[in-house]
Amino acid sequence: MNGCMACDLSAGWMELPGGEILRSGSWVIEHCIGPLGVGTLIMKPLRHCLGLWDLTDAEAAELGPFTRLAISAIKELTDADQVFSSLWSFSGGEPGHIHYVLQPVTKSLRDSIGKSGPFIQTAMFEANQTPDAGEVAEFCDRARRWIEDHRNLSLGVDFRTAG
Ligand SMILES: [Zn+2]
Repeated sequence: MNGCMACDLSAGWMELPGGEILRSGSWVIEHCIGPLGVGTLIMKPLRHCLGLWDLTDAEAAELGPFTRLAISAIKELTDADQVFSSLWSFSGGEPGHIHYVLQPVTKSLRDSIGKSGPFIQTAMFEANQTPDAGEVAEFCDRARRWIEDHRNLSLGVDFRTAG
């Protein structure tokens, strides 16, 4: 479409291990395809949006509810003691389609890497281990079920889950 991987994944033009987890009128949640471990999700606007300053009122209104919903699912489905939320927004050195990386951080992950904060992500990118597709699919199934069971966390914003 416009050379944007985020748009291509949302449109189904690129293979997405685990399939889409959640889609609302404005946002989509998927499993991360990068080497950040099983349970790391991506939350991005459906629209090709280059910065939070550019969110529509509807997109801004859905941001809080879906952030809490996704992070709660990650927290409940992993043994994370924290869930990072980082906004990434460069593509090829230029502002790109914004996407939140929502990453479970467990004590065992911190211990195995021996670092904290953004250095955990840096070390994982250097190790470059793509998560197992079967484990990703299993996590996505569990996440869809958990989210369906906790629809109240979306504060009434409508969405659907889809495999
Ligand atoms: Zn895009």
